Amino acid sequence: MIFRERISLITGASQGIGEAIAREFAAEGAAVVLVDIQKAKLDEVAQKIAEKGGKAAVYQADVSKHDQANAVVESVIKEYKKIDHLINNAGITKDGFLMRMKEEEWDAVIAVNLKGIFNFSKAVIRSMIGSRYGRIVNLSSVVGLMGNAGQANYAASKAGLIGFTKSLAREVASRGITVNAVAPGYIATPMTASLPEQVKTAFLGLIPLQRFGEPAEVAHAVKFLCSDEAAYITGQVIQINGGMYM
Ligand code: NAP
Repeated sequence: MIFRERISLITGASQGIGEAIAREFAAEGAAVVLVDIQKAKLDEVAQKIAEKGGKAAVYQADVSKHDQANAVVESVIKEYKKIDHLINNAGITKDGFLMRMKEEEWDAVIAVNLKGIFNFSKAVIRSMIGSRYGRIVNLSSVVGLMGNAGQANYAASKAGLIGFTKSLAREVASRGITVNAVAPGYIATPMTASLPEQVKTAFLGLIPLQRFGEPAEVAHAVKFLCSDEAAYITGQVIQINGGMYM
């Protein structure tokens, strides 16, 4: 178990990729702190982790709210004294061509996907600097690298967080903290389940490995970036997309 004694905070942990990361980290011995906007689903994930002998605590919070991020982190540090891993995973889509995109749809996606990362990273960074140790992993997307018609807001948020990742990586490298991003392609989760069949078929045609990815396949890369073996990797974007974009 590589994460024994580690405290890992994962946002958007109640389903999909966030849940897979939480289960993987708990299986490696970490005490996982699960954050999501809805408590009911979080409780279910925490229970599944506990049934397998893992440790999980749940916190309901909206990542886009600065005060809520501060309150969660303050309470976690009071309880556990530190946070070793921050996985900024919560994200939303509000798709539409720019001509028809409403201001609220732009603002909501930027608030959750980009400001949420600022909120939680800022909340944990002082404690990580004090510990001279930390791992931050941000969830970008293949769309942040290649763009996608109908997702200008989402692509902007996922590209924006890459700049954030590289900047913060430079700021805190001397304190033993690494900051990286992963950019998944099409992963089978509730977020992608609702896409129309013709969109799914079109995506599949773009993937050399000829299948969609599994949440666990993203979790494995995140686990590696948080491991001791990845100590010399910072400011990077690891692509997990079946070859969809190279
Ligand atoms: P998902 O199934 O929709 O799960 C995201 C979780 O985040 C949900 O539980 C959601 O809660 C929660 N959330 C949404 N807004 C929140 C907020 N303001 N505060 C706290 N939690 C919030 O998504 P996923 O597919 O697992 O994706 C996880 C991350 O990977 C996202 O950042 C996504 O952009 C990125 N990603 C996914 C794919 C993919 O193909 N699935 C590809 C590239 C990147 P609700 O359900 O209640 O909204």
